[in-house]
Amino acid sequence: MHPPGADVVVVRHGEIGTKSEHVGTKMERRLRENLDAVLADRGVDAEIEQRRFRLWLHTDDPEGATAAAADTFGVVSASPAVRVDPTIESIREALAEAARQGYDGGAFAVSARRAGVESAHPFSSTDIEREGGSAVWNAAEAAGVDPEVDLDDPDTELFVDCREDDALVFLEKRAGPGGLPLGTQDPVVALLSGGIDSPVAAWELMKRGAPVIPLYVDLGDYGGVDHRARAVSTTETLARYAPTRDVRLRIAPAGDAVADIAEAVDVGRMLVLRRFMFRVAAAVAEERGAVGIVAGESVGQKSSQTTANLAVTSAAVDLPVHRPLLTVDKTEITARADEIGTFHESTIPAGCDRLAPDYPETRGRLGAIREREPAGLSERARAVADRLEVVEGARDGVGDRDPAEGETA
Ligand code: ATP
Ligand code: MG
Repeated sequence: MHPPGADVVVVRHGEIGTKSEHVGTKMERRLRENLDAVLADRGVDAEIEQRRFRLWLHTDDPEGATAAAADTFGVVSASPAVRVDPTIESIREALAEAARQGYDGGAFAVSARRAGVESAHPFSSTDIEREGGSAVWNAAEAAGVDPEVDLDDPDTELFVDCREDDALVFLEKRAGPGGLPLGTQDPVVALLSGGIDSPVAAWELMKRGAPVIPLYVDLGDYGGVDHRARAVSTTETLARYAPTRDVRLRIAPAGDAVADIAEAVDVGRMLVLRRFMFRVAAAVAEERGAVGIVAGESVGQKSSQTTANLAVTSAAVDLPVHRPLLTVDKTEITARADEIGTFHESTIPAGCDRLAPDYPETRGRLGAIREREPAGLSERARAVADRLEVVEGARDGVGDRDPAEGETA
């Protein structure tokens, strides 16, 4: 919610501040470019101004600009704000206006900060809080609201950032994803199954700066159009967070290979299959200059996800398999999927379920699995990776940057 007259959005970033000046400057530039692209992608008109430790968005659409910032990796929080003269009287007036807009009962608090201007003004931040609080109180009473103050746990918090030349008044610090700007790491291949977990895992890597190349492995008769459709729609959602990137879904036609594996392998079949998927992903990574694989596994969530079996499947490839959900419970993963916007698109069990035996292996041993594995699976995975189908989504043409280009912290 923004105060009346808000025409600027203050955007805060976090971890970039821990970097050396050289790296930090590069990352800030990347953040600005990415934010600019998200704004443009959503048709929000805003001019970005680089400030110290902050970006300012000058805009007529404070809500749209705030929402865009809150979906940009690297952003910690965003506040649509009104700018006034740095005098107690102007601040009181702005707070009263803001209260009429954003305070309609419960307890409130005014939190003030004087950023680096200790001697510039004849009042302290405590003065602002006390004077501002009384302005809010009066405005509320005049509007028929019964005001109450709670400095520790307010229902409504009104913020003042007092600086040398102006003061900002705002009603919220909307949380962004945090993390680092997208494109500050080299890309990884994201295995997307159409399930709940895998898009969250991909998003977590994006959040830390790594662009993803989404890959769905088509299991042929063991997969299904429903899974594929969900992989497509979750990819579209992920792409909204990355308008500068090529986030088109790649589909690997693995039906024949999977059928042969299913026929040839009984005990340990799931592990052989998952090792095959990783090999396909590794072949795609090699082709596209990606430096890892990300998957949505979580310890013990499925028989193929025991610590022993994760060891067996990881060993199929030289590239690291990133598993950001490794220790995250399903309820938490589901909540994150909901926030990211991928949840509703992915509420069916993934196709692997149809391949799983009644009593699947939970303690695979690498040597035994290798012995049962049909020969030539690596070559076969490469052949599958050579025949990728690229899904031209609704966002086609938006991302024209090469995801292989990264910039390391
Ligand atoms: P999800 O984890 O996406 O919700 P799931 O929980 O059913 O699906 P599994 O089928 O055990 O998980 O798969 C574990 C991981 O392997 C997935 O998170 C995903 O990264 C990857 N994966 C599984 N099936 C496919 C597929 N058909 N194509 C691409 N990746 C897949
Ligand atoms: Mg899962």
